[in-house]
Parts: sequence; structure tokens; C-alpha cells
Amino acid sequence: MEKRQELYKGKAKSVFTTDDANVYVMLYRNDTSAFDGKKVEQLDRKGMVNNKFNAFIMQKLEAAGIETHFIKLLNDTESLVKKLEMIPLECVVRNISAGSICKRLGVAEGQDLSPPTFEFFLKNDALGDPMVNEYHIRSFGWATPEQVEKMKELTFKVNGVLKQLFLDGGMLLVDYKLEFGVYDGRVILGDEFSPDGCRLWDKDTRKKLDKDRFRQGLGGVVESYEEVGHRLGVKFD
Ligand code: ADP
Ligand code: UDP
Repeated sequence: MEKRQELYKGKAKSVFTTDDANVYVMLYRNDTSAFDGKKVEQLDRKGMVNNKFNAFIMQKLEAAGIETHFIKLLNDTESLVKKLEMIPLECVVRNISAGSICKRLGVAEGQDLSPPTFEFFLKNDALGDPMVNEYHIRSFGWATPEQVEKMKELTFKVNGVLKQLFLDGGMLLVDYKLEFGVYDGRVILGDEFSPDGCRLWDKDTRKKLDKDRFRQGLGGVVESYEEVGHRLGVKFD
């Protein structure tokens, strides 16, 4: 496999074409951003940690029967993935209230949500990723009703697998964001799953172990991601 040109440079990752038209290389950079790109910093080792963390999670999801774009790790900071036609939506499941839902609805952080709640956001940095509903998605043609159903089904299936995985490591999966794309006509999981895109709290102390450490300037961001990985059995070197 030969890496060719950079197709897209996002806030944290870069996507490269390869000599195989169906396969991309995904490079995990150290860039870390929050608040729609208004806060940006370089965090040493973060690209490597997220690349390996994501590989571990994607393999767990595949083992549970959830199809993902992940093919294999190439090196510390790069993975090979299936080329997807990305659906421009973010799927968020919340098991516990935190983050934007608390501001939007005026609810306290830390409430158990039963059942877990689900939200769609439009991927659009310039608009600050606004929340959208299923009628918006249908009316503007961002996804078909069948794709919407599939994304919800898969996002909740991921919840079942990962809630237990993190609980076994003494952590609560508070919320997370997934992105899907179309491969060979099927909706499959794309992008990444790492502490950059989810909230994880220590089960007993409720210490924040995720990107909120960066958002809130709590320090020890990458160290915390590594601790999460170690608790799950991820190998970083
Ligand atoms: P952002 O675009 O939000 O700044 P990243 O820096 O993580 O995010 O960039 C990665 C980009 O690659 C995202 O736009 C994501 O939708 C896209 N992407 C993720 N997986 C795939 C894939 N398998 N095929 C094509 N594009 C992908
Ligand atoms: N999230 C993400 N990318 C985004 C927006 C949200 O990965 O562009 C994740 C975020 O890390 C959290 C979950 O989705 O785990 C819910 O985020 P929320 O809506 O609370 O927004 P925030 O206040 O974190 O920006």
C-alpha cells in the first residue's frame, strides 16, 4: 500500500488517498481543539495514544458484530481505513447529563438518563455543529430515513458494548459522538472513538478522564487518556 496525497486536513486528523481507491490512510495528529476550533493546542503523544486507543475500540466493536471502517494499524500515528462516503451528521448518545445538554436544557450535570438520550448534530464548524432533528435530515437530504434508523440502531448497539467495557475498567461512559459513512451501500461506523470524542468518569470518584480536562484546563490530558487505555488493556508501546 502506498500513501498518496493529503485529501483532507481536519482539526485533529488528516486523511490521505492511497494506491487503492477504496482505502484511505488516517493520520492522528497531536492537534487538540475545542469550542469549535477556538481553543487549539499541540499535546505531545496524543496522536499516538488516540490512534492506538481507537484501534483497540474498533476491534472490540467488530468482535461484537458492528461493522467499522478500521482495517489495521500502520504505525504509531496512522491507520488504514475503508473509504467512506461520510454522512454529515454526528450521532450523540448520553447516559449521564453533561456538556451542551446541561446548558441547552438548564439541567444539572451528572443525572442518570433513563433511557439514554440520542441527538443528531449537523457537522458544520462554521455554524457550530447545530442540533438537527430527523425531519431536517430528511428534508435537506443529509441521510435517508433508512440510514437514520441504521445510525440510531448502531449507535445504541455501540452503547451496549462500550458501557460494559468501560465499567469493567472502573469507568462510566457518560456520552460520546459517532460518525457514520456509506461503504458498498451499507452504513458503517467511521471516524474515531477515543477520549477526544466521549466523556468518561471514574466510577467511584467521578474524576473526569476525557477531553473535558482540555476544555476545562484541568491538565494531565494525554496522561489521563493513557490511564483510560491502561485500565482497558490498550498497549501503547
Ligand atoms: P474534523 O473534520 O471534525 O475537524 P478530524 O480532524 O477528525 O475532524 O478529521 C477527520 C475527517 O475525516 C472528518 O471530517 C471525518 O468525517 C472524516 N472521515 C472519518 N472517517 C472517514 C472515512 N473512513 N472515509 C472518509 N472520511 C472519513
Ligand atoms: N463531541 C465530539 N465532537 C463534537 C461535538 C461533541 O466529539 O464536535 C462529543 C463530546 O466530546 C461529548 C459528546 O460528543 O462526548 C457530547 O458533546 P456535547 O454536545 O455535550 O458538546 P460539548 O459541550 O462537549 O461541545
